[in-house]
Amino acid sequence: MQCSNFQRKISDYIGKRLSESDMTGFLAHASSCPDCRRMFEEEERLTGLLTSLPLAPLPPGLESRILASLPHRTRHMAISPPLWWTTASRSFRAAAVVVLMVGLTLGALLGRGLHRASPASDVNAAAYYGLDQFSEAPDGTLTAAYLSLVTPDAADGR
Ligand SMILES: [Zn+2]
Repeated sequence: MQCSNFQRKISDYIGKRLSESDMTGFLAHASSCPDCRRMFEEEERLTGLLTSLPLAPLPPGLESRILASLPHRTRHMAISPPLWWTTASRSFRAAAVVVLMVGLTLGALLGRGLHRASPASDVNAAAYYGLDQFSEAPDGTLTAAYLSLVTPDAADGR
């Protein structure tokens, strides 16, 4: 690991955000490079000092002054369900949930069958797609190139 790379990763190491391989390289460099090790130890010491300080309390009224200075719209941007949902009856909402669940289930079932519609690997793909009429195309022609793209196994077998 280069010194510059090591120095960029010091705070990630302290914050325990290094991958296993980065950690190994980081520790190896720290043990072999006295300058970087000194820099690392200093940053680790400073971080320890800063995190040990007690948090200062907010000045009285600061939070309400900040909130008051925000534009009106952003102060009330809590996530809420759409109006049609909150005004709908309980039975309508239950029906909507059922319709949604049925739709999702049908979509999943139909989507699962889609990939089964493609030919199995042991089926001649050229015949499956109706491309077997091109199988007599001479090598080097555009037709042969297209056929080899669509059916790589057929191109190998010729
Ligand atoms: Zn170094």
